[in-house]
Amino acid sequence: MSSATTAPLPATGATTPKPQVQPCRYKTGKTLGSGSYSTVRECVHIDTGRYYAAKVINKRLMAGREHMVRNEIAVLKRVSMGHQNILTLVDYFETMNNLYLVTDLAMGGELFDRICRKGSYYESDTSDLIRATLSAVAYLHDHGIVHRDLKPENLLFRTPEDNAELLIADFGLSRIIDEEQFHVLTTTCGTPGYMAPEIFKKTGHGKPVDIWAVGVITYFLLCGCTPFDRDNNMEEMQAILNADYKFDPDYWSNVSDTAKDFIRCCLTVDPEKRLTAHQALAHPFLAENHRGLKEDLLPTVRKNFNARRNLIAAIDAVRAVRKLRAGGTMDGALSISPETQKEKDEKSTSVGLWKKPAGGLMRP
Ligand code: ADP
Ligand code: MG
Repeated sequence: MSSATTAPLPATGATTPKPQVQPCRYKTGKTLGSGSYSTVRECVHIDTGRYYAAKVINKRLMAGREHMVRNEIAVLKRVSMGHQNILTLVDYFETMNNLYLVTDLAMGGELFDRICRKGSYYESDTSDLIRATLSAVAYLHDHGIVHRDLKPENLLFRTPEDNAELLIADFGLSRIIDEEQFHVLTTTCGTPGYMAPEIFKKTGHGKPVDIWAVGVITYFLLCGCTPFDRDNNMEEMQAILNADYKFDPDYWSNVSDTAKDFIRCCLTVDPEKRLTAHQALAHPFLAENHRGLKEDLLPTVRKNFNARRNLIAAIDAVRAVRKLRAGGTMDGALSISPETQKEKDEKSTSVGLWKKPAGGLMRP
């Protein structure tokens, strides 16, 4: 990996502290996943031996969108450790080429893959997953934050165990809302299949967009395909605008009316009439004693999941292309690139020492 030079970052404002080069205390390892503008890698804190996940964001790819990373840091700083189902930000820093967000390591993988690996899967499992998701969403909304990119790929599990905690990740598109002034947000963002109608209408989108996404996720978790899946984006958008979806009996005969009613309440076109996070949590579908029908949904869900996988990969590729922009840096600390163990062994040198100054975050 390239070594750091100590060129100072351009000042981004009178109050921005001058970046400093600091020794690094982490070593990065295997890749855990990748999104459209970042790669997430396992990393170990050299002093404590504790493992974390480092979201490595390529500055060049992010150029022009630095605000997304600043936003992600700001949001995570605000909500980290406040709720058991939200990923904790542990540290952050930057090198010449990359930005690093160090978070809890979610060792249980993504929601999507985890369900496919299970031996059986019931409606009550979906209730449990959606209850945990909505509990975190309610916490975010109570703190004036809209996630705006809720989808199965951003829902992770803390450990591989069956009863592992679900974690909401990826706050790159989320927004801290000033309740008074920014009730309505107007930027187009998110993943097409999970976007609410008001996003396409450009009438702004606040907290209700997250509830719409929860409706899409619930539909997806119960049958393995998304409700507005169409041959092209135009048709998909039209379907979303009209909430044009159905519960095809081929896939939905083993799902309760309570679950279908919950989905309808989330997929309500008018954001004013859509359930709020707290109202959704009170729906009978999410009651602790809701069991749903007793049929194992896994065969249908897995079959449809696998068929959809390729489409989702294609959507992510489109997002990646959109995010290619030029120029710009962040206003954090500057440090030397962390080396992987392999690179370190190859060079037989000690790990570069790099670290940012204390940022008021949890210290490893
Ligand atoms: P992007 O904004 O590029 O979508 P994400 O934060 O969603 O980036 O991370 C991309 C992928 O990396 C996730 O979908 C997940 O598979 C994996 N990932 C992200 N954070 C963690 C983590 N803390 N622990 C384990 N895997 C993670
Ligand atoms: Mg993501």
